Amino acid sequence: MELNEIETRMATLRSLLRQYSRQYYRDNQSPVSDAEYDQLAAELSELERHFPDFTPSDSPTRVVGGEVSPEFGTVHFDKPVLSLGNLHSFEEFQEYSARVSQWLSVPLPLPWTAELKIDGLSVILDYRDGVLQRAATRGDGLVGEEVTGNAREIGGIPGTLTEPLTGQFRGEVYLPRSQFDWLNAQREEAGMALFANPRNAAAGSLRQLDSRVTAQRGLRAFIYEIRHLSGAIAIDTQSQTLRQLAEWGFSVENHWRLCVTDEDVRGYIDQFQNRRPPLDFDIDGLVLKLDWRQWQDQLGATQKTPRWAMAYKFPPEEALTRVRDIVISVGRTGTLTPTAELEPVLLAGTRVSRASLHNEDIVRELDVRIGDTVFVRKAGEIIPEVVRVETKLRPPQAQPFVFPEVCPVCGAPALRVEGESAHRCTNGLGCPAQLREALIHFASRDAMDIEGLGEKTVDLLLESQAVHSVSDLYRLTRGSLLRLPRFAEISADKLLFHIERSKAQPLSRLLYGLGIRFVGERGALMLARYFRSMGSLEASDVDTLMAIEDVGPRIAESVRQFFDAGENQKIVRELEDLGLNMEEPLEEPRNQPLLGQTFVITGTLESMTRAEAESRLTVLGARVSGSVSAKSDGVIYGEKAGSKLEKARKLGVPLMNEQEFLYWLANQGAN
Ligand code: NAD
Repeated sequence: MELNEIETRMATLRSLLRQYSRQYYRDNQSPVSDAEYDQLAAELSELERHFPDFTPSDSPTRVVGGEVSPEFGTVHFDKPVLSLGNLHSFEEFQEYSARVSQWLSVPLPLPWTAELKIDGLSVILDYRDGVLQRAATRGDGLVGEEVTGNAREIGGIPGTLTEPLTGQFRGEVYLPRSQFDWLNAQREEAGMALFANPRNAAAGSLRQLDSRVTAQRGLRAFIYEIRHLSGAIAIDTQSQTLRQLAEWGFSVENHWRLCVTDEDVRGYIDQFQNRRPPLDFDIDGLVLKLDWRQWQDQLGATQKTPRWAMAYKFPPEEALTRVRDIVISVGRTGTLTPTAELEPVLLAGTRVSRASLHNEDIVRELDVRIGDTVFVRKAGEIIPEVVRVETKLRPPQAQPFVFPEVCPVCGAPALRVEGESAHRCTNGLGCPAQLREALIHFASRDAMDIEGLGEKTVDLLLESQAVHSVSDLYRLTRGSLLRLPRFAEISADKLLFHIERSKAQPLSRLLYGLGIRFVGERGALMLARYFRSMGSLEASDVDTLMAIEDVGPRIAESVRQFFDAGENQKIVRELEDLGLNMEEPLEEPRNQPLLGQTFVITGTLESMTRAEAESRLTVLGARVSGSVSAKSDGVIYGEKAGSKLEKARKLGVPLMNEQEFLYWLANQGAN
């Protein structure tokens, strides 16, 4: 980026952050998620580090909180009420701790008090002779809003302490999760707007002009800091502070721990990041505080944060990055899938450089453009997705993305199927991209099971033009394979052996391998079992197809369309001529002891894939269903089984774990 572009980006980031903060602190709303806010703030901080000249002293990275609402009385603080700096990994903690040890000239390890970072809002409490005098929000850190009457309605803030102390204390007001659910249920019933999260609900409930409203909300508070104490009470450490606060009658969150080694800190982080005990309140990280107060005083603070404490933020679920390009890939059925190519960014511990954009509708809805700044999030398992575009950071030249009307691989028209969101290349197996995926699928383990014919070999075969269709696989010779790079006699013979062996696969696998739309493994098996031969399946009409168990109109139509297409007919004939088995072996009735019974498989099995387990059951005549009902004859469960297992337990359906299943199968004469 040019210097003037950097300056503009910094100014835009500042104005965005100010706008979001205003809504957050003044209106108790979250216009964006905290992770998104933090990502924008992190980008600004990083730029400010490199370009201090473009950094005004009132940058949002340097000021605390938001402005004070004129509806409340004000409280001026004697010393600023600060925010916290952030750490994002154990390594960052170690670097920070080393810096602190240098500043103090004290050798490592240092003692740290580790606490939970409660996701609520700060409250500052003044007591005189043990009686609550005044309560205030943090405001902008120098001036807060007076909320004394409301604070009296909060559990955990005693009106009177167990000792006649005079001093100022700080804590966090929060709304328990259970209370939040109850509150939102009530609001829903009354037709009122729901709170987006407990933090906003807590802020909205504390910052009320009518204390009676606060009283109804069920707020609570945890107190964690003595800001000032009159008299000669010696408290030397943060851990002692927490114990004392509890003795004086404050509510203190009790998961805190004094960590005397780095390993203690690592253990604490691990416990709350990965193995968190159930809590009735939200946390947005941990706080690590240098235990000795004397050292705290020595270190002091910056304009915004103390030097003796840090927030440890859990890895964000969203990351901010830029879209370098939008590319379209073509799948096995010709579906065009748009993907955003990103500037690489760390997301939940992994480096991410691509994110799915799913289809044209989503690209249009997000209005994502090349050059845009976007937030990406891990969706389910592996592929991240773009959740939002920060349009205010859009470069002026960015153009709306136009979805292609032709297949980017073969140039054939790409049509949007009516009623579907997908565009599809109309060139079928004439499209190299579809052919590649079709070959990989044909050879896969659950289809024709041709060992050695994975993605890389398929790419070699296509590049060298040795194969133009699935039938060409059966025309390969030792000679043609030896011409390919990376093929020697042994590997060529091995591949030919597996290709030859696949000719005997039953019709069901061939049907599945041909990749007829909507015909999965189970559908292929049902069709093969019913028709027994390719010939009678090809000759069947839609009505006959629909009469088969588990075959609905969508599958029936698709099967008919497949066999009506001249190109497919040709391939099927070729395969037949090349000697492939076109029949499904007859199941002996005596081998079908489970005929008429329905089973459900849930969770992950260790010794076999889900498809194998299903076929072990179906060859014995059983039906495998996706949902548990009182009529199910049994549920086989593996690792991480969830709601289906629960339901089966409730309904009293017989259960089998994997070991029991294998033993039981053996007793069915199946092994
Ligand atoms: P912060 O939340 O990162 O950390 C400081 C705060 O932690 C303290 O003020 C205190 O209230 C709290 N805290 C909780 N438990 C604590 C404990 N045990 N010890 C000490 N402190 C404890 O910083 P902040 O300045 O309060 O708020 C900034 C954050 O607010 C941002 O990082 C962002 O996540 C969020 N924010 C979100 C939006 C949005 O639109 N979603 C807008 C503005 C700010």
